[in-house]
Amino acid sequence: MKAAFFEGPGKIVVRDTPDPVCPPGGLLTRVEACAICGSDLRSFEAGSKYQGQIIGHETIATVIEVGEGVEGFRVGDRVADCPVTCEKCKYCEAGSNNLCLQRGRVGGRPQGGFAELRPVLASAVQGGFVVKIPGDILPEHATLIEPLACVINGQEKLDWRPGASVAIIGAGPIGILHLLLAKRQGAGKTILVDLKDERLDLARKFGPEHLVNGGRQDPVDEVMRFTQGEGADIVIVACVSATAQAQALEMAGRMGQVLFFSGLPETSPMVTLNTNLIHYHELRVVGARSSVKRQWDMALELIVSGQVEPQAIVTHAVSLENIVEGFALVRSGKALKVAVKP
Ligand SMILES: [Zn+2]
Ligand SMILES: [Zn+2]
Repeated sequence: MKAAFFEGPGKIVVRDTPDPVCPPGGLLTRVEACAICGSDLRSFEAGSKYQGQIIGHETIATVIEVGEGVEGFRVGDRVADCPVTCEKCKYCEAGSNNLCLQRGRVGGRPQGGFAELRPVLASAVQGGFVVKIPGDILPEHATLIEPLACVINGQEKLDWRPGASVAIIGAGPIGILHLLLAKRQGAGKTILVDLKDERLDLARKFGPEHLVNGGRQDPVDEVMRFTQGEGADIVIVACVSATAQAQALEMAGRMGQVLFFSGLPETSPMVTLNTNLIHYHELRVVGARSSVKRQWDMALELIVSGQVEPQAIVTHAVSLENIVEGFALVRSGKALKVAVKP
């Protein structure tokens, strides 16, 4: 099969590699679409521990072979699978499987989705980590299930009060999903900040009250102005930026909540923050990573019921051969979500 290997910063190579086999107890699938995540772009640009591997984790695929002993799946089923966790540690027991101490270490290492074929691990099938995707949704649209589940996880960390003012830094697909869900939570004023006009233009139709180009205007000043000098009740950082993390604390109002949704590159995670803002303004700063199966089910329901319209967010598709072009599209800000279709 053909697959895209992440070979180091700035380098993704599509080449032939032996077809994977169907694992006993698992599934063999043909990838229909795998979307490029902001974290893939971060790996691509800054490097990551996934060097040498096939990456891509927003995968929708069709079952072409069912492993020995598997029940409940047939050839032709469309599936997505979430990370396998141990179900035994205190985090799994508390339902926070995304924080599982064995996450990524139990059940085998899953292959990424930027490939023609992909085995679904027996541990994923047996552990109930596989979600069936209805056939009437386009696969590229269904890729939104993973990022949407992560956004649901992020917003579950926050206390939502009706009318809360919300500032979101980063107007990419994640920022937009945060905006859509914040509105569903009853947010009042919503402000979207980005450095690229192209992105702000694409984001406009999702209905934020204010758009701020953080390159031309001071986003902290602007948020203060739109909130009558109070600052935002909730600030969500949805971009890979140390500056944005520092600004988030400054644009939060007293008793504000700040969600660090996006991480920073592994090689440069250190940031200078004014922690006096946390102290004097009694801020709550919380992080969020990944998602759990329950949130995947919620995300699928939002997509299937049309409450979140994936076609507005998955704006582009490229072939596997053109995956590098897909990454360039994401970086340019001209596309929201880009799906790779092998
Ligand atoms: Zn993702
Ligand atoms: Zn666990």
